[in-house]
Amino acid sequence: MSVTSTSRIGVMGGTFDPIHHGHLVAASEVAQWFDLDEVVFVPTGEPWQKDDASLSEHRYLMTVIATASNPRFTVSRVDIDRSGPTYTIDTLRDLKTQRPDSELFFITGADAIAQILSWRDHDELWDLAHFVAVSRPGHVLNTDGLPSDDVSQLEIPALSISSTDCRDRVQRGHPVWYLVPDGVVQYIAKHHLYRSKE
Ligand code: ATP
Ligand code: MG
Repeated sequence: MSVTSTSRIGVMGGTFDPIHHGHLVAASEVAQWFDLDEVVFVPTGEPWQKDDASLSEHRYLMTVIATASNPRFTVSRVDIDRSGPTYTIDTLRDLKTQRPDSELFFITGADAIAQILSWRDHDELWDLAHFVAVSRPGHVLNTDGLPSDDVSQLEIPALSISSTDCRDRVQRGHPVWYLVPDGVVQYIAKHHLYRSKE
C-alpha cells in the first residue's frame, strides 16, 4: 500500500431491523460511484432495550450475514457497544479515531438528510464526512440550507423495500424471500423474529 494513499470509506448507518436489499443496493451503488474501498455498516444502538440486548445482537448478526459475501462490506459495533441513543456525530468520531487516515462518506436516505440541520453538532458533521443522500428515481431532494460541497445525491434503482414492510410481512406469515438475503430469511425463521407485535 502506498504511504500517501487514503482509504475512502462509506459509512452506512441504520437500524437494520432487518437489513434488506435496499440497504445493500444503496451501499453497492455509492461504493461504485464514489470509488470507495470499503463500506462499513453500523447498526444503531437500542437505548430503550436495556434489558434485552439480544435484539441488538440479532440486528448485528443479520447485518454480518447479509454482508459476509462482499469483500468490501464490513460491520462495526461502535454504535451497539456505546450506551445511550445513537448520534451520527458519535459514530463518525469513533470511526475516524479508529481510521485516522480515511476519508468518510456517510450514506443516508434523502428523507433523513433533509432533517440533518436539526442534528446535534451538525457543523462538525461536514468536517468529519462527505454526505451522500440516496433517493429513488424521481425523488427531489430539498437542499435548502445544506452545504453543496459536503452533500451529494445519488439515485438508487427503484426499490420500495423497507424494514417496516419486511417485519409486517413476517408478522402476517407472508414471505420475505428476495426482499432480504437468503441467510437473513433463514435467520429470522430460526430465531422466530417479528412474529408478535413488540
Ligand atoms: P424502517 O422501515 O424500520 O424505517 P428502513 O427500511 O428505512 O427501516 P433503516 O435501517 O431505517 O431501514 O435504514 C438505514 C438507511 O438506509 C437509511 O439512511 C435509509 O434512508 C436507507 N434506506 C432504507 N431503505 C432503503 C431503500 N429501499 N433504498 C435505499 N436506501 C434505503
Ligand atoms: Mg427508515
